[in-house]
Amino acid sequence: MLKIMREMKVVRKISQNRDDYIIIVGCGRLGSHLANLLSKARKSVVVIDKEEKAFNRLSEEFSGFTIEADAIEIDTLLKAKIDKADVVVTTTNDDNTNIMIAQIAKSIYGVPKVIARLFEPARQKIYEELEIETLCPTVLSALEFKNIIVGKEMED
Ligand code: AMP
Repeated sequence: MLKIMREMKVVRKISQNRDDYIIIVGCGRLGSHLANLLSKARKSVVVIDKEEKAFNRLSEEFSGFTIEADAIEIDTLLKAKIDKADVVVTTTNDDNTNIMIAQIAKSIYGVPKVIARLFEPARQKIYEELEIETLCPTVLSALEFKNIIVGKEMED
């Protein structure tokens, strides 16, 4: 019994560590907020932005690293150690940039979890076919608005 409990503890520890190293591309309104939340959740976070002032959005408690550079450059991604990343989230304000970096992370560096911010809901299906996970804040916000207005039980 003790042995099983010890093994379970090890398994839990491994799964807890799985998403430990996270790269966030873009430190604007979305990326900085996410970086602050993940840092608070004790994850190792690296945030990339091409504008130095973007990092002002990070909280005083943010314990990760920042890289001021264009994330489209492979050198920037290598500097962020993309080959070691467990998660890459692309949150720039450009769908093409987000998708391109997501594809590089997934196909070239084999990052296990890649999520791209998508502005244009109509493009979501295309990226699903390319097996790129996307989150479309426009769609998520609309759903939340709908839930507040008519309740969650009504079908989407
Ligand atoms: P927001 O729309 O407020 O979430 O901001 C998007 C952020 O993405 C801004 O801070 C931009 O400077 C950043 N950004 C856009 N393109 C790139 C890029 N190619 N590399 C790094 N950061 C970028």
